[in-house]
Amino acid sequence: MLRAVCASANPHKVAEIFELMGGVIDLQPRPADLADVVEDADTLVGNARLKAVAVCAATGLPALADDTGLEVDALNGAPGVRTARFAGEQATDADNRAKMLRELNGKARTCRFRTVALLRFPDGREIIAEGVCEGRVAEAEVGERGFGYDPLFIARDGDGRTFAQMSASEKHELSHRGKAFRALSEILKRELPTA
Ligand code: IMP
Repeated sequence: MLRAVCASANPHKVAEIFELMGGVIDLQPRPADLADVVEDADTLVGNARLKAVAVCAATGLPALADDTGLEVDALNGAPGVRTARFAGEQATDADNRAKMLRELNGKARTCRFRTVALLRFPDGREIIAEGVCEGRVAEAEVGERGFGYDPLFIARDGDGRTFAQMSASEKHELSHRGKAFRALSEILKRELPTA
């Protein structure tokens, strides 16, 4: 099995990535002493690459990174690459959700989560996959599970519950991250048959 280091430091995302990729890649946690990477690229691929390059350089191993944006139609695709900083540089998930509810007051609520999953090898080769989950922003927060915008996101192909009301496996079935990492696994199986 291919050995790679998970480039994410967000514990919620790390848990999801280990669940999704554990059977495909021998995934190692990100070294705790590695400095945070400033995610200032202007695309999701660019931000995933910044994280993966830093981890590859520090460990000498392949690195698995991802980056996600929420694209809201009534906000012309924003916050997109700025999803984590929607309510400001130091914004918490709760700040971001509150701002989203304020901004969408009286507006259409269709949106999508987009995830880029990127596996980078120390020699610079990369495998990149994308996953999109269409949905809408709920009128109010519902549910206690998950993280980020989960209490506000209702997947179009779901049953009307928010991601924060679903078990991890129900969310993975539908989610942007589930789709991106499943697509990455398929490419890996094709391109690295021994992986
Ligand atoms: P990043 O991929 O860690 O850069 O995430 C960007 C922003 O999207 C952060 O505000 C996350 O909380 C949010 N986010 C990423 N993935 C999810 C998800 O699966 N559900 C809800 N929010 C998410």
